[in-house]
Amino acid sequence: MKPAMTEFQYRCSRCGRAYGRDEVRYLCPECGRSYRPGTPLAGVLEVELDGASIARRFDRSRPDWDLFSPVEREHYPAFPAGGTPFAPAPRLGERLGWPNLWIKNDGLNPSGSLKDRASALVVAEAARLGETTIAAASTGNAASSLAAVCAAAGRRAVIFVPAAAPRAKLVQMLVCGARVVRVLGSYDDAFRLSLEYTRQRGGLNRNTAYNPLTIEGKKTAGLEIFAQNGLRVPEAILVPVGDGVIISGVHKAFKDLRAAGLAERLPRLVAVQAESSAAVHDYIVSGSFRPADSPATVADSISVSVPSNPDLARRAVLESGGFSVTVSDEKILEAQATLAREAGVFAEPTAAATIAALMTDEARRRLDPGWQVVALITGHGLKDVEAPLARLRVPEPVPADFSALPAEPAEA
Ligand SMILES: [Zn+2]
Repeated sequence: MKPAMTEFQYRCSRCGRAYGRDEVRYLCPECGRSYRPGTPLAGVLEVELDGASIARRFDRSRPDWDLFSPVEREHYPAFPAGGTPFAPAPRLGERLGWPNLWIKNDGLNPSGSLKDRASALVVAEAARLGETTIAAASTGNAASSLAAVCAAAGRRAVIFVPAAAPRAKLVQMLVCGARVVRVLGSYDDAFRLSLEYTRQRGGLNRNTAYNPLTIEGKKTAGLEIFAQNGLRVPEAILVPVGDGVIISGVHKAFKDLRAAGLAERLPRLVAVQAESSAAVHDYIVSGSFRPADSPATVADSISVSVPSNPDLARRAVLESGGFSVTVSDEKILEAQATLAREAGVFAEPTAAATIAALMTDEARRRLDPGWQVVALITGHGLKDVEAPLARLRVPEPVPADFSALPAEPAEA
């Protein structure tokens, strides 16, 4: 049986040079030379699939999504990433003003975040290359995901996280047996240290965008939305943005679908950032890049000073006819509660930022109420229970005696 994957080459997103599959692993060798820590990555590579070849082999009645994968299925770890629910949220949608609001709930991946998609693909590539160690820097989710996938695949995960990463995520990494290095510094410091680690000690680096397969792994979220939506393109998809890789992956999904003649257009992509961590948003709006001064947001997964992938994120928004928006921490926590109470979905603050975005004037102005709008929920709420706890009142215990039950509260 021949593998379902499709021939591809890497193409540099900056200079346009093409490279064979085994010629490069990370950045464009030419453009990557100008990369300095503390700046966005230079020369991020994109996988260029042969759309015509996919078009010839794709059967709409029996879709084979492996045709869009740059790694053969035989190398994939025994780890069920993806395949998450895509469902309408009518109560939430009515309340926010988009009755046709849908939720792609990637918090229901095995490790609780969308990052499992990228981790699984990178670990598949490690298997193909015969690499036993995979290293990564992460704000938390990519690391806990990599730890889980490596555990399933029998590979070694070495993880660099900022010391302030939420405890639940740290516990996830440790319980899966990863080697965890807690860095006294920011995510950006952890990123730099992990690059140094693989340069000096070898192994495969999973850093987001630095390893081009992270974009391809995240792409599968977009492919799934299309598949679960009856091979139709929704009008808009809201995506939380930190480094800008998930939104680039979703963009890539629809570009690949279009190149294969399956999608007639791109969905408008809406980049959502936290107010204090808005380097990508500022870049989209102004066209000139500047790091975020001191990111400090409750949405820890998108708390980034120097995003690794602002160029592709900006392109995703502009080419798709979308826009970007920032939201305050207060709105994020309000949205987290609204999403839970109106749709039963407990999302981490980062993921709830997509719902907070739907509460902005910008969204009301730019997104038609008749459109099918999709919120991409990227992480589970149990990842960080401290953040919502501050807004909740935990009831006092009562004796186990019916007569001691407090009176019923008035209906809200
Ligand atoms: Zn280049």
